[in-house]
Amino acid sequence: MVGTLYVVATPIGNLGDLSPRAAEALRTADVIAAEDTRRVQILLDHLGAGGRRDVRSTFDGNEAARAEELAAELTAGKQVALVSDAGTPGVSDPGARVVRAAIAAGAPVVVIPGPVAAIAALVASGLATDRFLFLGFPPRDAGPRAELAGGLVDERATMLFYEAPDRVGATLATLAAAWGDDRAACVSRELTKRYEEHVRGTLGELRDRFADAAPRGECVIVVAGASEVARPALDVEAEVRALLATGLGPKDVAQRLVVKTGRPRRELYQLALALAREPAP
Ligand code: SAM
Repeated sequence: MVGTLYVVATPIGNLGDLSPRAAEALRTADVIAAEDTRRVQILLDHLGAGGRRDVRSTFDGNEAARAEELAAELTAGKQVALVSDAGTPGVSDPGARVVRAAIAAGAPVVVIPGPVAAIAALVASGLATDRFLFLGFPPRDAGPRAELAGGLVDERATMLFYEAPDRVGATLATLAAAWGDDRAACVSRELTKRYEEHVRGTLGELRDRFADAAPRGECVIVVAGASEVARPALDVEAEVRALLATGLGPKDVAQRLVVKTGRPRRELYQLALALAREPAP
């Protein structure tokens, strides 16, 4: 009989959030696939289920090969529990490849739901929960981050980002530049922990607050979607022409318009180059 893959959510800071089903799956699994074997050992010890366990490290760098190995264990009838460092495997964490390999091997996949930092932050923000878009970690480099934000300027859903504390200020600055200072937003930090905090305000207020003072601990950024009022469609070509007319070169024009238009920098550059080469009327 083929074994079952249990995808087990674990606490994001508060051990009290480990569910009885999660505890049972960890106690009884033949094999535990864990992003960090030391962290899962703490959980197992907490459950009194440490002992001699078959724990296999499964992280981004080895997940592809490990997924095949775990699929073979499932085919051999073993019960496999998959955990990540914290929260739900597969959510900005390894896990998706293991799930796909299990499905391909014909093994049942059972999810044991539990903490997800993004959902906790969404609900605490007070922003609309009927439609939301989880975007994981934004790009570290300012250019791609601005492109991402520019492309989402008309997005109506509430948007959620994971971010490292020392980059929260820069990311808020990018979002405020792209979406305006007035959007409602919330930075949630240390969810489920002793110093849990939700800082609510406009994007401009939060940008200013975190500009020189990185929040302490892990953070989620939640931002309201675009309002219902439709914005007139932007005439990209006219925008490019107007900037070229001020004497800017194609490179600078592209740089200036990335956020405003949401178009890739290269595409804007090619357009600016083509328009700059047009013979004068
Ligand atoms: N799998 C996890 C989940 O289900 O939420 C996410 C893992 S991801 C590698 C780690 C990021 O999640 C952190 O950088 C932070 O943005 C967010 N996060 C995790 N725990 C958190 C917490 N207790 N409070 C606030 N954000 C948290």
